[in-house]
Amino acid sequence: MAEQMPRFIMCFCTGKCPGFEALDLWDLINYVRNELDVEYAIVHPQLCVDDGDAFWRDYAKPGVKYIVGGCDPRMQRKMFKDALAEIGVDFEQQVTPLDLRNMSTTDAIKKVTEAVEKVAESA
Ligand code: SF4
Repeated sequence: MAEQMPRFIMCFCTGKCPGFEALDLWDLINYVRNELDVEYAIVHPQLCVDDGDAFWRDYAKPGVKYIVGGCDPRMQRKMFKDALAEIGVDFEQQVTPLDLRNMSTTDAIKKVTEAVEKVAESA
């Protein structure tokens, strides 16, 4: 059986973050879900607060790869790794964090595309 495709989560920073002003969220998410080899793509409003932790604990699974569009990868690591570790998900092995701030939709699509290809290559 083929390796499971990654899931894409766009953390959209409440929808009010100036860092995502140049990004058309729906163009990005629809491109990713329709054109790339992902299992599916979803949007979360703010993964780095308590309900984000609750989401991760409820949602993430060992063995699945997640590509997360959002802020600085170091920030994502710091904010997500403990909640994920509680349910046996290893941030380093399973999460590919992408900084999509201050990018055009075209550039963000390119970055996500490259990440999906890289995850597929490493599978
Ligand atoms: S994890 Fe990053 S992108 Fe997501 S809400 Fe927090 S600061 Fe914003």
